[in-house]
Amino acid sequence: MSIPDVCYQMRALFAFKLKEQSRHFSLLRLKVERNLPSSKYTEQRLRHNHTQLNMTSLQERRSMPTKPSMFRINSTATALLIATTSLSILLFIITSPPPPPKSSYYSLYISKSLSDNATISQHLFALTRRPHVAGSEANAEAAAYVLSTFNSYNLRSHIVSYDVSLTYPLSRTLKLTRPPPDPATTFDLRQEIYPGDPYPDVANEVLPTFHAYAKSGTAAGFAAYVNYGRVEDYVTLKEMGVNVSGAVVLARYGEIYRGDIVENAYEAGAVGVVVFTDRKDYGGGASHRWFPDDKWMPPSGVQVGTVYGGAGDPTTPGWPSTSPCERLSNNEVERRGDVPLIPSLPVSAADGDIIMRSIGGQVANDDWQGSADAPLYRVGTGPGFLNLSYTGNQIIATIQNVIGVIEGAEEPDRFVILGNHRDAWTFGAVDPNSGTAALLEIARRLGKLQKKGWKPRRTIVLCNWDAEEYGLVGSTEWVEENREMLASRVVAYLNADCAVSGSGFHASATPQLDELLKQITQQVHDPDNSSQTVYGSWIGTRDSPVIGRLGSGGSDYAAFVQHVGVPSVDMFFGGAYPVYHSMYDAFVWMEKFGDPMFHRHVAVASIWGLLALKLADEEFLPFNYLSYACELQKSAKEIEDEVSGKGVTVIPLYKSIGKLKKAATKIKSQIKALEESSGWSSMWKKDPIKVRELNDRLMMAERAFTDKDGLFGRPWYKHLIYGPSKHDDYGSKSFPGIDDAIEKAKSLNTLEAWRFVQHEVWRASRVVTHASLVLSGEFT
Ligand SMILES: [Zn+2]
Repeated sequence: MSIPDVCYQMRALFAFKLKEQSRHFSLLRLKVERNLPSSKYTEQRLRHNHTQLNMTSLQERRSMPTKPSMFRINSTATALLIATTSLSILLFIITSPPPPPKSSYYSLYISKSLSDNATISQHLFALTRRPHVAGSEANAEAAAYVLSTFNSYNLRSHIVSYDVSLTYPLSRTLKLTRPPPDPATTFDLRQEIYPGDPYPDVANEVLPTFHAYAKSGTAAGFAAYVNYGRVEDYVTLKEMGVNVSGAVVLARYGEIYRGDIVENAYEAGAVGVVVFTDRKDYGGGASHRWFPDDKWMPPSGVQVGTVYGGAGDPTTPGWPSTSPCERLSNNEVERRGDVPLIPSLPVSAADGDIIMRSIGGQVANDDWQGSADAPLYRVGTGPGFLNLSYTGNQIIATIQNVIGVIEGAEEPDRFVILGNHRDAWTFGAVDPNSGTAALLEIARRLGKLQKKGWKPRRTIVLCNWDAEEYGLVGSTEWVEENREMLASRVVAYLNADCAVSGSGFHASATPQLDELLKQITQQVHDPDNSSQTVYGSWIGTRDSPVIGRLGSGGSDYAAFVQHVGVPSVDMFFGGAYPVYHSMYDAFVWMEKFGDPMFHRHVAVASIWGLLALKLADEEFLPFNYLSYACELQKSAKEIEDEVSGKGVTVIPLYKSIGKLKKAATKIKSQIKALEESSGWSSMWKKDPIKVRELNDRLMMAERAFTDKDGLFGRPWYKHLIYGPSKHDDYGSKSFPGIDDAIEKAKSLNTLEAWRFVQHEVWRASRVVTHASLVLSGEFT
């Protein structure tokens, strides 16, 4: 029996199991519904009510006769009855057991008995059986799989579709001409199927290597090597006296977002861009071992990906792509500056190596060189000459987000949202379906908790996004469609994308969630070191773990944080991995190198789900804005250092941060006071309106960091603290508006440019002041 046959059988068996499971779950749902009133607590209350009813009817019957003597007897009986009733109410209060504390569900959620690595691996296997790029039939199948799995775990689920502009490769050619006697090379631009690949039957479903939203057209010019294609690399070239104007540049992946590699090349005057994966960074250097023998990228492996610089469907900036809707033309999209204006192609390490050998000129700096056995890298230009052509097929395609809901029992109009995308460039075992498998594990465990009687205080929403790879399209369209609703009701958004690619936990967050992240990682065991917690490994020998920030356009949190201002978290085990966005990011790679026992998947589901549980269940939202103020203070200091001697003052920013700190301290003590308050009424419940008012201040303070005009020249990015900086979308600096203004002022060095930096400092100070007012709950 061939391996694909085994796979097919496993899939069929699994589909059967799922059906069984869903039948089991519908039976289970019935049981839960029937059993709900029979929990000890409710049962006693019902019995008690029943007694009360019987007594009342007795009382009514007895009070019907009108004779005075009878009335006297009745009034005595009534008094007796009232006394008995009051006594039984009192007895009921004293003796009835309280509902189980929420904390018991937290420990159950992360317990071994509820975790299941085998089911996670089955989910990952099912999701990654075929390449499933956005808009494809295979990805619609994967959506149906997620939907039915959500339903089987007792989530109320539905699909939300959008019609969006996507591109697919139609034709690509790349030819290298060298001075005689060397012959010309026409690259075949294909990733090789490796011996023993269990998926040869679907290998032709992998898209030809390309850059999504790349400019269609041809480019011809001498080859020039530009290192990672950063702004500073072009500064170095300029200092070396190398002019890349009219050249087709060769850049390597790894330091900045690929869209910025193309953009920076265009700014430097290049006419085309070829981006390769250097063996030094992705191929295991001189080890000459690669997948399937090792984790490294094979020589023919290519990292595909988007080069679009915005978020969401490029033809519907700021509004949802529902049909019909207003759309920009291609020319209008190009004028907005988010898509490249010169063609580009990604190539393999092997092809990059051939091109590199054709480039002469000055020897590149040491830190521009490749692995030990690589040819000497020179910067050019020429004598190698590149002819590149690319044609993309731009179409309106239907994409599908899957949404699953567990309604909150006490505050159904407050949402805790978890999200992960489903679409993949190829098979997507790491990116993104390690996250999808973990999301389904969370759904499964929450289904079990529901069976035990748990109901969240607030509503929990599980989202499985589409077309993230093209430019965060599915999540952005959904956020744009539901913007006002989300802005008034979302407590937090929790994201995972490439959830598992190796060992070691990493997280990024808006800073009011730092404390909660630290607390939760202290409760989950490190899947790679059973003697300590995830927190213990994460912190290492430092005083505090490194928590990243959410300023980049790296994943689906962007619309939540940067467009609406929702407190958010993003997390993963591992990090950069060599086969990223290539056809080798498949189940076999995960099983061999990423997470052989799927224990890291279990851990990520524990941390991610426990974050959701606490945010959904705690009476007071576990937000700490003192961390936020401290973080802003650090960023303000960095800005102060950068602008010293330029006539720019950062004092307004420091003052606003001071106000935020004060408000954060105030709300903390208000919550403490309410928690400790004693008195007759608080024996039952804290004043629910007061609790709600405090929580609203905590929830809405993040919104106040947004500004309706947004970042200068980029109005979609409303958040003035976290957003992508212009020249590096992977970067995550605070105060992107100030940062961009400083970059510009440094290069122009005019009074006007530095005055603009001051203007941006004022704008940032104003939003921080707004946040402090919302948090303190008082107007001026
Ligand atoms: Zn991804």
